[in-house]
Amino acid sequence: MPIRRLDPTTINRIAAGEVIERPAAAVKELVENALDAGARRIGVTIEGGGIGRIEVTDDGHGIPEAELPLAIERHATSKLTDEALVRIATLGFRGEALPSIGAAGRLTVTSRPAGQDSAARIVVDGGAVREVEPVAGPVGTCVTVEDLFHATPARRKFLRSAGAEAGSCADAVRHLALAAPAVGFSLTIDGAASFDLPPQDRRERVAAIYGRADAEKLLEIEAVREEVALRGFISPASLTRAAARHQHMVVNGRPVRDPLLRMALRLAYRERIPAGRHPLAALWLEIPAEMLDVNVHPAKAELRFAAPDAVRSLMIGAVQRALATPADLAAAPSVS
Ligand code: ADP
Ligand code: MG
Repeated sequence: MPIRRLDPTTINRIAAGEVIERPAAAVKELVENALDAGARRIGVTIEGGGIGRIEVTDDGHGIPEAELPLAIERHATSKLTDEALVRIATLGFRGEALPSIGAAGRLTVTSRPAGQDSAARIVVDGGAVREVEPVAGPVGTCVTVEDLFHATPARRKFLRSAGAEAGSCADAVRHLALAAPAVGFSLTIDGAASFDLPPQDRRERVAAIYGRADAEKLLEIEAVREEVALRGFISPASLTRAAARHQHMVVNGRPVRDPLLRMALRLAYRERIPAGRHPLAALWLEIPAEMLDVNVHPAKAELRFAAPDAVRSLMIGAVQRALATPADLAAAPSVS
């Protein structure tokens, strides 16, 4: 067969395989877009494990009608200028999420910027784009994804049960809600409200996500070295879980599952907790953008640090200092 260029639909389906591994990845991309749009309130609805339907509604700045066709085009983004790849301030920048989702399922984007009289809608199904049409709608954006992976059946086969996929979607939304506590978040799964959180500070958001009983036991940590700051809440060695589900790391506002940060946390607790147990931790790391490469992973979950040892030792030091102050001593009423 001669060498030939792939058509855009095929290219988008290939990208979809990397960017949208499972429904939770689509949820994450859509909520990140809402956060990038400056939303104050974000509503997420999941049906049938996110394979049936995902809906993300926001009150952000919207997409002008004339730009809707570009929003779903590959490598089209309003967030990155060609020179800016060294200092990425937005959660998105690759312009890949919407075209990837639209290649794998049926994507509908309905949006209305504040200055526009009515909303407009664009639909992409399995890579085929329908005309933009005017519709009624509030200011902001609503993105729905239906029948995810119907156009990529190989991927569909690797999904777990609807219940397990819905659980992963909920985990993704919780992580994002921790990353942006000042934004109101609601999550509805198969018609049942999971949570509906007003704008909160970090401590209140952690309590809402982890449950008040656990949150009250958490130790606050803070460590600042030069321009790098780590703040958040960790559990005392007496409070652990069998799974690492309650470990949420946020780097420059970005929810991440970074191996270096996880390993540093594990090292900090080493010998204090039994093997197979995991501490709870909600940690926010602020680091100058030029010390960080976020462009190493298609789903942007992993990072590369310019000074990994400094980050690792900041984390280990901060956690070990907090663990060395017995929580029950600190919390006990002083008897004189
Ligand atoms: P990226 O986020 O990397 O730019 P996406 O494919 O996720 O790429 O989105 C493409 C573009 O569509 C964004 O750059 C943005 O301009 C627009 N967009 C997507 N979702 C929203 C939203 N919820 N509110 C406003 N604009 C959006
Ligand atoms: Mg995006």
